[in-house]
Amino acid sequence: MHELSIAQNIIEIVEEHAAKMKARHVTEIVLDIGAVSGVVPENLEFAWEVSAKNTVVEGALLKINFIEAKAVCLECKKEFELDDIYTMCPHCGSFQFEIIQGKELKVKSIKIE
Ligand SMILES: [Zn+2]
Repeated sequence: MHELSIAQNIIEIVEEHAAKMKARHVTEIVLDIGAVSGVVPENLEFAWEVSAKNTVVEGALLKINFIEAKAVCLECKKEFELDDIYTMCPHCGSFQFEIIQGKELKVKSIKIE
């Protein structure tokens, strides 16, 4: 489950921010997670609970902002939504497309006190 290292990574980023802002507690973290980022939100939530113990984010509310994936077909130039990267253009059947949205994996905002 690579979500564990991702969760630890995110916590490090948040800890850095919190230290800079001289915050004692982080109350809320909002993450942007794209549908084809390779992260399963449920797994990340579980990994988060494990990793957050005894850190500045312990007890903070984790909000996941799930972003649908979109691609543009390089053949017919039409946009379409996709659930995973192993798909094809529903308009022309091409496997040549560029993902324009849905790879996001980042901390969008944090609330501190
Ligand atoms: Zn197409």
